[in-house]
Amino acid sequence: MIRPTVARVDLTALQSNYRRIVEHLTRGRAPRAPGVIAVVKANAYGHGAPQVARALEDAGADLLACADIEEGHALRAAGVRADILVFGALSVSDLDGLFDCRLTPTISTPFAARAVQAAAARVRRTVRYHLKLDTGMNRLGFRSDNIRRTLPELLASPNLELAAVYTHFATADDPGSPLFEEQRARFERALHEIDALLEDRKEGKDREDREGRKEGAPYVHAANSAALLRDPRVWYDRVRPGLLLYGIVPPPLASAIPLTPIMTLGSRIVAVKGVRAGEGVGYGVKFHAGRPTTIAIVPAGYADGLDLRLAGCGAVLIRGRRAPIVGSVCMDMLMADVTGLDVSPGDEVVIIGPQDGDALDVREMAAQIGTIPYEILCRIGSRIERVYK
Ligand SMILES: *Cc1c(COP(=O)(O)O)cnc(C)c1O
Repeated sequence: MIRPTVARVDLTALQSNYRRIVEHLTRGRAPRAPGVIAVVKANAYGHGAPQVARALEDAGADLLACADIEEGHALRAAGVRADILVFGALSVSDLDGLFDCRLTPTISTPFAARAVQAAAARVRRTVRYHLKLDTGMNRLGFRSDNIRRTLPELLASPNLELAAVYTHFATADDPGSPLFEEQRARFERALHEIDALLEDRKEGKDREDREGRKEGAPYVHAANSAALLRDPRVWYDRVRPGLLLYGIVPPPLASAIPLTPIMTLGSRIVAVKGVRAGEGVGYGVKFHAGRPTTIAIVPAGYADGLDLRLAGCGAVLIRGRRAPIVGSVCMDMLMADVTGLDVSPGDEVVIIGPQDGDALDVREMAAQIGTIPYEILCRIGSRIERVYK
């Protein structure tokens, strides 16, 4: 049984996007190109994390990232073997999952540091973690201007081992914002301070411990999709693309990397209705037919993630033409003005994707309703079946 409204996800295009990004990084910085952290949080931006993660792994991804321990668990349950970084705060999570699922935590607050240290001590394990620094976003992360005070306790935690240091940019997609450069400078400064703190600890340890157990230097990452496109100086040792993997360039940026959107959203007309001039359509009768009008009913609505604001400004593709979405987007269906088109129930409707030489993309849809492509992708509802190819 399958509904007429279906999201098709092209895993071959995903793998090709991944490889194109790797090629771009290689061209930009041979011979030491940065690695990739493939971001598959939020059910892989709505595309389906198990399938997306396994396809990325097959394409060579050796480190994936998700939002929380529960997402990491779902990836392991799907058979993912690559390392998995958890971005989230962890302070109120059930930390057993870190060990059961072999996840790499981010430590972004002193509170989380103590919680993870205690959990690791309880099971007598050493946890390799990524340290997150806040360089100006003021969300998660140790304040980068205060690490001399806050880091020594973390670095002294006996069951925690620092594997990497990272930060996150608040305005990488805004070429006019000076904050990007300020964050970069603060991050550089903090990296030097961390080097110095690690050096001090090493000397202290060497004195205590003649065996001289060497602490490996942590590696560094900072760039989301926008930062990756914008500035090779923030590529460091790894980059963290999400949206680019799915074939979408964060607006308003442009990119020369040849990427393909990997998801299309399609449906079928389930009914066709004639409306007389002067009659209204839908809840609130927001649309009034100024002339004899033909309306196609499409079985996809806001319960499927289609935004109410699309009515009156968005369109769907039917028979290669843009049919404006009119009236109101309902819970389970929407109405499109197909006046002048010869349509019948069963005809294909494209909500996102190409049809007969035209295409509707999520960047355009996001711009129409004043949001970002991320939100549109993530909101595509759980009722919509994802079909993989
Ligand atoms: C979501 C996320 C990313 C990926 O962002 P894109 O803009 O999709 O590339 C990278 N890093 C962190 C910390 C994130 O939360």
